[in-house]
Amino acid sequence: MKKVKMDIPLVEMDGDEMTRIMWKMIKELLLEPYVELNTEYYDLGLQNRDKTDDKVTVEAAEAIKKYGVGVKCATITPNAARVKEYNLKNMWKSPNGTIRSILDGTVFRTPIIVKGIEPLVSNWKKPITVARHAYGDVYRDVEYKVEEPGKVELVFTSVDGKETRKLVHEFKNPGVVLGMHNIDKSIESFAHSCFSYALDLRQDLWFATKDTISKIYDHRFKDIFQEIYDKEYKDKFEAAGIEYFYTLIDDAIARVVKSGGGIIWACKNYDGDVMSDMVATAFGSLAMMTSVLVSPEGYYEYEAAHGTVQRHYYKHLKGEETSTNSMATIFAWSGALKKRGELDGNKDLIEFAEKLEKASIETIEQGTMTKDLALISKNENINSVNTRTFLEAIKAKLDQMI
Ligand code: NAP
Ligand code: MG
Repeated sequence: MKKVKMDIPLVEMDGDEMTRIMWKMIKELLLEPYVELNTEYYDLGLQNRDKTDDKVTVEAAEAIKKYGVGVKCATITPNAARVKEYNLKNMWKSPNGTIRSILDGTVFRTPIIVKGIEPLVSNWKKPITVARHAYGDVYRDVEYKVEEPGKVELVFTSVDGKETRKLVHEFKNPGVVLGMHNIDKSIESFAHSCFSYALDLRQDLWFATKDTISKIYDHRFKDIFQEIYDKEYKDKFEAAGIEYFYTLIDDAIARVVKSGGGIIWACKNYDGDVMSDMVATAFGSLAMMTSVLVSPEGYYEYEAAHGTVQRHYYKHLKGEETSTNSMATIFAWSGALKKRGELDGNKDLIEFAEKLEKASIETIEQGTMTKDLALISKNENINSVNTRTFLEAIKAKLDQMI
């Protein structure tokens, strides 16, 4: 059998704990036997981030700009306990945050749907992708606790010193207040990422805010989306047979719940934080959620939505058997390989990635799955297997297909 060739590399970012173990197994069992893997490797494991003073994370993000596509393993975001555990020089920032700030992207999260794992919302037949704006609003707010009578004002001071004031509230009794912001450029990037991703997936794009109440702030989001859509995407959407639909956030929630899925739902920062957890839970399992960062310039970074599965890793270290679900990590790889194939016109690579996804889904649908899914599956004959056996079962299926 001839291996599939890759002319241009993709950026491979290794990570931590149980997902690092699975990363190696996926390459060994499901990728390297079939593809002449051409990757530029960056070790984002915590030890190497510490060793390189986290420069490796920045280099990896720059490499994604160079090659256009990256695939990332889950990584530890250190807290005080991790600083002690790994004897770190510094409490390094979240690699995802660092990469996102360099690529300026939007994160799209999509569940992997398999028969037997039924969504809690029974009419959801196709996946719902949540796109979350990842800048500003309440995540960069300034808050204040009012303890005594007095007034709170918004004051804008222009560079030449001119002041504009707006009364927020005249406090007679104690209370609380917050100030928050967003910037047009970030909202524009968000809009471009959403429109181009909708074209990529050929799915309708929904966007919602509370512009009837927030007549300037939320209305700005609505206007920017509409202006960009009319100017740059309307014709392309019509040609692709898809729709851009704007509504109020409460109406959107009612419609999403009643829908059959198969849409991309663009959310402001807070809405996306809350709704992505709701959608993930309702679709069954965090281990079945994929995630892709799409930059407005068209760079793509694929990963699993879950973390490094620390609890399973400690079991693994003790020599105990684990049953960790590798689906989201496999789909991060297949997503990246498909995108590489699309960008390079490499049909064989696209075809391989599609077969890999099909083999993975069929393995679960025919009853072989990890414990997290075995617990919720409606399948009649369930074969609950360990981490490696699950990958071997996918490999057996893939071998039949190729
Ligand atoms: P986690 O890795 O997402 O795992 C939380 C729990 O969810 C696991 O203990 C497990 O439940 C279940 N789970 C998650 N993924 C699974 C999978 N693939 N297969 C089976 N079960 C799965 O979150 P965490 O343990 O709270 O965080 C560990 C580390 O991950 C942290 O250091 C955090 O910084 C990092 N993190 C990284 C990313 C990223 O790189 N994108 C995202 C989130 C968190 P049971 O224990 O009940 O089996
Ligand atoms: Mg959340």
